[in-house]
Amino acid sequence: MNKIYLDNAATTPVKKEVLDAMLPYFMESFGNPSSVYQIAQINKKAVDEAREQVAKTLGANANEIFFTSGGSEADNWALKGIAEAYKDKGNHIITSKIEHHAILHTCEYLEKKGYEVTYLDVDEKGMITPEAVEAAIKENTILISIMYANNEIGTINPISEIGKIAKAHHIIFHTDAVQAMGQVRIDVKEQNIDLLSLSAHKINGPKGVGALYIRRGLKIANLIHGGGQERGRRAGTENVPGIVGLGKAIELAYEDFDAKIEKLTVLRDKLIDGLLEKIPYTRLNGHRIQRLANNVNVGVEFVEGESLLLLLDMNGVAASSGSACTSGSLDPSHVLLALGIPHEKAHGSIRFTLGGMNTEEEIDFVLEKMPSIVERMRSMSPLYEDFLNKNK
Ligand SMILES: *Cc1c(COP(=O)(O)O)cnc(C)c1O
Repeated sequence: MNKIYLDNAATTPVKKEVLDAMLPYFMESFGNPSSVYQIAQINKKAVDEAREQVAKTLGANANEIFFTSGGSEADNWALKGIAEAYKDKGNHIITSKIEHHAILHTCEYLEKKGYEVTYLDVDEKGMITPEAVEAAIKENTILISIMYANNEIGTINPISEIGKIAKAHHIIFHTDAVQAMGQVRIDVKEQNIDLLSLSAHKINGPKGVGALYIRRGLKIANLIHGGGQERGRRAGTENVPGIVGLGKAIELAYEDFDAKIEKLTVLRDKLIDGLLEKIPYTRLNGHRIQRLANNVNVGVEFVEGESLLLLLDMNGVAASSGSACTSGSLDPSHVLLALGIPHEKAHGSIRFTLGGMNTEEEIDFVLEKMPSIVERMRSMSPLYEDFLNKNK
């Protein structure tokens, strides 16, 4: 049986070109970029080139890119580093209820340290409005952190508008763009973004490497203390192969961009429309249009998302019932709850996230299997039976 991977928001396979670019830096060119001899200078050059590749994609300068161990570290650094560096200016942070846990749990940590955090509500499509951001600004607000696109429901936020508001109020603006990378064109200068987090493994790069863009002129406290790497701001011998992989992955993520997005959108829409049409009592979670080209998230009533996943897995299909971090726990997704979806309905949601390798045949296969799987599950559900009896 062929395996069908539809969980690209959790992680993605490394592309062949990315791996090929990384391989020389494990055995042949293994030097420490901080060393002065020639064999290490190759490594320094490789890191500098990757920094250029990331900067170019974001419309930033190379000296504004700092490599990290991934998206979570970039998020932690942005929030803790700015909170600390600007604590004499204020202690209020604005974020949203649908952020990734790397943001939410960092905010909870900062609250314990005496910071005040406003968690903005979203509308029923998962959108954060610029008006809500502006209304939450106070005298002591130092930072706004709003994700570019949500990892569960794929909703894309009005980042340029929020950037304008932040700039007009002289407040620092961070965005977690981990999911938006490769699916949305980003220009940090044009969009007034002061800090931006990204991660390699969500864009066909290696796991354990990411970056934080920090606008020139911003103060930020260090998260990792030690040697003078990353211009004294992030210590630790550079993950040279990982950084090279990130540089290559980000470059490839924007190659043939329009054609790639078009292909994904067609497959996405086929899957959304097919599921809603073929399975009664289903709805789309998230925004229909302002949505990542690879994200499908549907609520299926009278079924348990986790059981649905297992049955799909038995058919060779890998999907998710929310974020990978929350699966395994019985709490419904905080994102779906923030949309106003009741607990029992939030449980019955399933997320398919497409990648460059997915084919129309695979989508057809899912559309063929899903209705019978759901029907079988519902036939065993007393809730569904009650519902049918009441509606006779
Ligand atoms: C995956 C993800 C992260 C975490 O990135 P890691 O590199 O896995 O630490 C942060 N934010 C969002 C939106 C993500 O999807």
